[in-house]
Amino acid sequence: MPISENAKAVLERRYLARDEQGQPTETVDGLFRRVANAVAEADRRFDPKADVVATARRFYEMMTNLDFLPNSPTLMNAGRPLGQLSACFVLPVADSMEDIFDAIKNAALIHKSGGGTGFSFSRLRPKGSTVNSTGGVASGPISFMKVFNAATEAVKQGGTRRGANMGILRVDHPDIMEFITCKNDTTEITNFNISVGITETFMEAVGNNAMYDLVDPATGRVTGQKNAREVFDAIVTSAWQTGEPGIIFLDRLNRDNAVPSQGEIESTNPCGEQPLLPYESCNLGSINLVNHLMKTVAGWVLDRAKLEKTIRTAVHFLDNVIEVNQYPLPEIDQMTRSTRKIGLGVMGFADMLLYMGVPYNSEEGVALAREVMDTVNTIGHQESERLAEVRGAFPLFEESIYKDGKPIRNATVTTIAPTGTLSIIAGVSSGVEPVFAYAYIRNVMDNTHLIETNQILKDKLVEAGVYSEALMQQIVEQGSLAHVDGIPEDIKRVFVCAHDVSPIWHVRMQAAFQEYTDNAVSKTVNFPNSATKEEVAEVYRLAYTLGCKGTTIYRDGSRSEQVLNIGKVN
Ligand code: UDP
Repeated sequence: MPISENAKAVLERRYLARDEQGQPTETVDGLFRRVANAVAEADRRFDPKADVVATARRFYEMMTNLDFLPNSPTLMNAGRPLGQLSACFVLPVADSMEDIFDAIKNAALIHKSGGGTGFSFSRLRPKGSTVNSTGGVASGPISFMKVFNAATEAVKQGGTRRGANMGILRVDHPDIMEFITCKNDTTEITNFNISVGITETFMEAVGNNAMYDLVDPATGRVTGQKNAREVFDAIVTSAWQTGEPGIIFLDRLNRDNAVPSQGEIESTNPCGEQPLLPYESCNLGSINLVNHLMKTVAGWVLDRAKLEKTIRTAVHFLDNVIEVNQYPLPEIDQMTRSTRKIGLGVMGFADMLLYMGVPYNSEEGVALAREVMDTVNTIGHQESERLAEVRGAFPLFEESIYKDGKPIRNATVTTIAPTGTLSIIAGVSSGVEPVFAYAYIRNVMDNTHLIETNQILKDKLVEAGVYSEALMQQIVEQGSLAHVDGIPEDIKRVFVCAHDVSPIWHVRMQAAFQEYTDNAVSKTVNFPNSATKEEVAEVYRLAYTLGCKGTTIYRDGSRSEQVLNIGKVN
């Protein structure tokens, strides 16, 4: 298996099945066999004579070659008693004590199984409104978010990974100002990422420097008005200070809502890439693009035939996951099976560009993003349509936006996940992000430090005859190649890191992937510490104009840790 020592360590520490004494009861190879066998088994439901052994072999090879990996819960739980295989959930939070605490309990069950949860708190009555049954005063959405946060803290996901949450509040909720600043103290609500749910009405009011209405969700009454630009500036200021809140464009999520008859999409999963209906869940998987390159006389090019084959096998795999998944709640079981959403995406995109000699921040890089994701989306949809011929369309097909076209098995097919752990296992750059650092210091046990170097860069420097430890030391110190003497210009142009890529190019890349993605794209727009608030505002406006479904920004040094950095202890 082409798996690195580091990846093996991650799998051994967190993913292998264990006995009651905590000793692993399987090997890394055994893990992939377990997952392949459990997921292939679903074929039998559609054809009692299906060659399940052959399917399991294809799945096993696709994973052990690191061509494709399913999201972490599938690796951890497939073929084991818990059997919960999805990373993404959205739960409803209705405006009553019973409903609020049901949601907390349900989230705890999901966290225990390794899934992340998203919630909209927009239906909760604002702080200070009356509570009919007691005549008391409501404490508002933010105070309840703190209860969700404390529950998450206590669960710690059954020892595997910490619960991660997304909290959304609509921009027209009367408590919006409190929400925007609720994480300015970075020790508060640490198990949540938060995003403001932005409406088009609001964005128009920002453009016109106009007032907009605040609406009490419990009564539907307008409780007041705010100047849109003031609220927009407050969002920008907070994000500039701490990286939060992010923003999501609610109208846009709902324009792509595959089954509008089932209600509105009001939240995403914790990292923002998966909009879902209340009680829906989704399982993700990512194709390793580096493994889909081939060397020609003209250099590295995309191996389209191999990519197409992997996409088809991956869609088959992810659809099977819906069948064999054991859902934490009957409502989630029912909702998930009725839309059958899957989220196939890519990882190692930045590494792919390095091999191809194309800068991330270039027209050519953006064009390659389009080409790759167009292929994943088009072939992915074709494969889902092919599955529908044998297995039937998803049950709510007749109510869906696809109803006048060909039956399709899955209401959504594509999503770009962060691949925090998967990219470590595959040994490639994460998701569609640029390389964060080409060389960094790793502390090893006896207090010695090792310089870890990006292998693609190292090979390139060796080939150019300029590699040296001293050069690497300089890259570590400067965090980028841009100003290191002795590196040829053509190498510097291609080996750009996240901070060499201007925020505008980050957004353009996100928008290019979004164009060919049913769900959304996990992407952080990196800013240098010196960035101004106006630069952040410009990125928010650009994300809106270019058709992104949301944005997350991070200004260097503005926060010591992020929710999912804490989660990703492996
Ligand atoms: N997730 C989570 N806790 C974590 C990491 C991830 O709940 O510590 C969920 C969350 O919904 C996130 C999704 O898994 O959006 C995908 O994250 P990622 O691709 O980083 O997960 P991986 O499969 O690589 O572990």
